[in-house]
Amino acid sequence: MRSTDAWPFRLTAHVFLLTLLILVAFVREFGQTRPSEANPRPARTKAVKTRRAVRRGIIARNPQISKIVAEIDARNIENTIRKLVSFGTRNTLSDQNDPNRGIGAARDWLYAEFQKAAAASGGRMTVEKQTFEQPKAARVPQPTMLTNIVATLKGTQPESANRVYVVSGHYDSMCNSPTDAKCDAPGANDDASGTAAVLEMARVMARYKFDATIIFMTVPGEEQGLLGATYFAENSKKNNVNIEAMFTNDIIGSSLGGNGVRDAHTVRVFSEGVPSNETTAEATSRRSVGGENDSASRQLARFIKETSERYLPSMKVWMIYRRDRYGRGGDHQPFLERGYAAVRFTEPNEDYHHQHQNVRVENGVQYGDLPQFDDFKYIADVARTNAAALAALALGPARPANVFIATGLSNDTELKWDANKEPDLAGYEIVWRDTTAATWTNSRSVGNALTYTMKGMSKDNYFFGVRAVDKEGNRSQVSYPRPLPRAPRANQPAAAPPD
Ligand SMILES: [Zn+2]
Repeated sequence: MRSTDAWPFRLTAHVFLLTLLILVAFVREFGQTRPSEANPRPARTKAVKTRRAVRRGIIARNPQISKIVAEIDARNIENTIRKLVSFGTRNTLSDQNDPNRGIGAARDWLYAEFQKAAAASGGRMTVEKQTFEQPKAARVPQPTMLTNIVATLKGTQPESANRVYVVSGHYDSMCNSPTDAKCDAPGANDDASGTAAVLEMARVMARYKFDATIIFMTVPGEEQGLLGATYFAENSKKNNVNIEAMFTNDIIGSSLGGNGVRDAHTVRVFSEGVPSNETTAEATSRRSVGGENDSASRQLARFIKETSERYLPSMKVWMIYRRDRYGRGGDHQPFLERGYAAVRFTEPNEDYHHQHQNVRVENGVQYGDLPQFDDFKYIADVARTNAAALAALALGPARPANVFIATGLSNDTELKWDANKEPDLAGYEIVWRDTTAATWTNSRSVGNALTYTMKGMSKDNYFFGVRAVDKEGNRSQVSYPRPLPRAPRANQPAAAPPD
């Protein structure tokens, strides 16, 4: 009797469980919020999907890059920031000889720390004090010595060692007035955060080998008018240094904005669309067929986003399609002006109470750039995003040179480019996207060809690019093609017919 009594109960329980399972499955499939720029949840969903794709071999990761990402340590970043803050001020005009206070103390401490990093590199990393006299300028009342700390990790592939990637942060700081050399200017976020990220990357990456050369740099004079970075960029230009990409990390310290938004999973990457050094001929071509969204800096931003999604899927690279924020500037600018691809990394929501402010409490509000407002784990994640992209660039081949698109009237698209010179090159890929898409959406491997025709796809309807791939699967940045001048026919002028 007991069993017949229990039977309807058991049936009810089964139906209940089954309904619950269907409900759970339904919610998992359709219940997710739509991805939105402000919502960090899609990043976590993406992280789960990426982990699954890596396990199934759909996404290939270079194990060396995964190790570098794992070894970056938030505790080292915190220690560096606290040490830099302990120098009281790092104003560019402050004392250069006091061992405890001022920019000179910060300079010497950083130099020693980079040398410690270099000691683990097997002689591949060298550290240099690049000192120069800055003449009088708007924010420099008298000629002042400035010193860039430059740690160069030499590439190990002879064909690639002259290809250089630069990652930078500025170690100077300021309070209300840029020329006040006496006030306390802790600069824990602006820009001890960027400086600490660069030092931590140098410490980790010095132990690894890369085909191309990486320069880890910290500079003064940013608040005085981008002076340290300008000197380095100008010097590089004069010496024909092949800088393929430059990253500046400036204000990457806090995950909490002045607007009250807490977001520890987003970093903004600013890239300019129209190159600062665009020529008149390039402008004419761009006005005719577009390209304002395809500068080398924009390709660099896309590369950083793609690489970050592969190695650090919980972190979102928020591409901002402008050179910098309103009324602000950064150390990537002197590089852009000299024709180098460059981007700026900055936290998603800034707090202006903690930038360029004298340390004080006013109406119960704490002003000043103090370490208590930094999020060291967040800074470590931004450093990881940098490091993954830098490592991928320096392990991979150069972007293809002299990439052209044939301009004859055709419904096919013909691309051609020069051969890369790396011995471990595997071949090339054509990438494309809809003209309104933000990132490259499609790719096709075309082997070791130097010309390729996309049949049935008109150059009028898509944007195309070419990238190189090596035998380990490392990919280069994308090169955006220039229009190949049309050969004039005997009875026709070279100019396009007006139709
Ligand atoms: Zn700054």
